[in-house]
Amino acid sequence: MPKAVAGPEIERLIQLLARLPGLGPRSARRAALHLIKKREQLMAPLTDALDTARERIVICKACGNIDTQDPCTVCVDPKRDPSVIVVVADVADLWALERANAVNARYHVLGGTLSPLDGVGPQDLSIDALVSRAHDPAVTEVILALNATVDGQTTAHYITDLLHNANVKVTRLAHGVPVGGELDYLDEGTLSAAMKQRTLI
Ligand code: ZN
Repeated sequence: MPKAVAGPEIERLIQLLARLPGLGPRSARRAALHLIKKREQLMAPLTDALDTARERIVICKACGNIDTQDPCTVCVDPKRDPSVIVVVADVADLWALERANAVNARYHVLGGTLSPLDGVGPQDLSIDALVSRAHDPAVTEVILALNATVDGQTTAHYITDLLHNANVKVTRLAHGVPVGGELDYLDEGTLSAAMKQRTLI
C-alpha cells in the first residue's frame, strides 16, 4: 500500500477515479489533480453532469439502449429504417456503430453474450424480447453485429436458430481484412475468414 500523499477526501476521489475503465492508479492521480486544479471550469460542471445523469438515466424498454428517455432517442427517430434491427451485445457496441454512421436502423441490446464458462445463459440476455420484435411484420432483416469471438459467434448461432420461424433475413457482420490492414500482419483465422467471404468487385 503506497503512503497517502493527501487527505482521505482526495484519496477517495483518486480511488473512485481508479475504478474507471482505462484509468489505473497513476492516471487516476493525474486526473484527480487535474480536476482539483480546474475546480471551477471542470470539476463543478462534471459534478452537475454526473448528478443530472444519475437522476435521469433510464434503460429503453424497447431496445435496451441507455438514454434519458424511454423509448430512447434511437427508437423514436422517424428517419430510421423500421424494417431492420441491429443486434449488439452491449450499449458500447451500439455507440460504436452510431459513431461510424454504419447503419440507419434500430437496435437491440442483448446485455452480453452467451458464455457457458461464465454461467451466462439465454435467460440472462434479452433474447426473448428480440424474438418477439423480429416477429413484427414490419421487420424484414435482423443484423447480428456481435463480436467475432467464440461467445459472440455461439450467441449468433443460437439467435439464428430461434429466428428460424420469424419471417426475417438474418445476417451477420463480415469477418476479414480491417480497413488499412496489411495481410502480412493478420492472424490465420482472420485471413482464412477473409478469403472465404471474398466478394465480387
Ligand atoms: Zn430504444
